[in-house]
Order: sequence, then structure tokens, then C-alpha cells
Amino acid sequence: MKDRTQRMPSYKVELSIYERDGWHCRFCQSPITSKEARKKMHLLLPMAARWGKANSEKHRGLSILESTLDHLLPHSRGGDNSLENLVAACGPCQFGRGNFTLEEVGLNNPFSRPPINDNWDGLRRLVK
Ligand SMILES: [Zn+2]
Repeated sequence: MKDRTQRMPSYKVELSIYERDGWHCRFCQSPITSKEARKKMHLLLPMAARWGKANSEKHRGLSILESTLDHLLPHSRGGDNSLENLVAACGPCQFGRGNFTLEEVGLNNPFSRPPINDNWDGLRRLVK
């Protein structure tokens, strides 16, 4: 897939990247959780597990566990939605780099080491 018109791939492709990357952030290796699991936690514990659209409406702990996709070469700098350019990232790692390249911020390419593949499933077992 080399589509530059879309900002992000389909949800099916997104899920395949989280599975490939073992539901861990490829930068800091923290476990991340599925969108469905965060929604369920919010439904079960609406006051404790706040999760709205705005950052100010999100529980900080859940934000750290948020599954996001990160373009290794930022979309704004010509990066595409190919599987080679997208990795699973936690909320802080995805947000923190902004539009800088890996080289500009001194990060190693996360593909230089294998993903963590333990039994972590992003808490998808909660919503099956
Ligand atoms: Zn991270």
C-alpha cells in the first residue's frame, strides 16, 4: 500500500500492525491496549477510566497505554502508509516525536530489533 492520500490505513490493517508488533510500543516497548478494551473499561468504570475525544477528557494512565500508529517517515514529510513505514506506538511516543524524522531526534529505527512477542493481547480478551 503506497497510498499518500489517506492519513491512516484501514482499521483492519491497523490491527494487523498491532498484532505484528505484539501489542507493544516499538519505541519504548511498553504494552499498549486496544481501542475496544479502553472503551469497555470506560463503560464499566466511567469516572475512574475517563476516555473522551479531547486529551483533557482522557485518563493519563489510559493515554500511556493507548495504541497508536506512528509513521517512521512522518506523513507530513512524505511518509506513506506502507507496512514498512508504520509501527505500533504508545500515546506518548507517538505524540512526542511530532513531525521530526528518527534521525533528527536521534532515535534508532525500531525495526532494528524484533518486536516483543509475549502473550500480551492489548486486552482484546476483554471484548471478545
Ligand atoms: Zn512508547
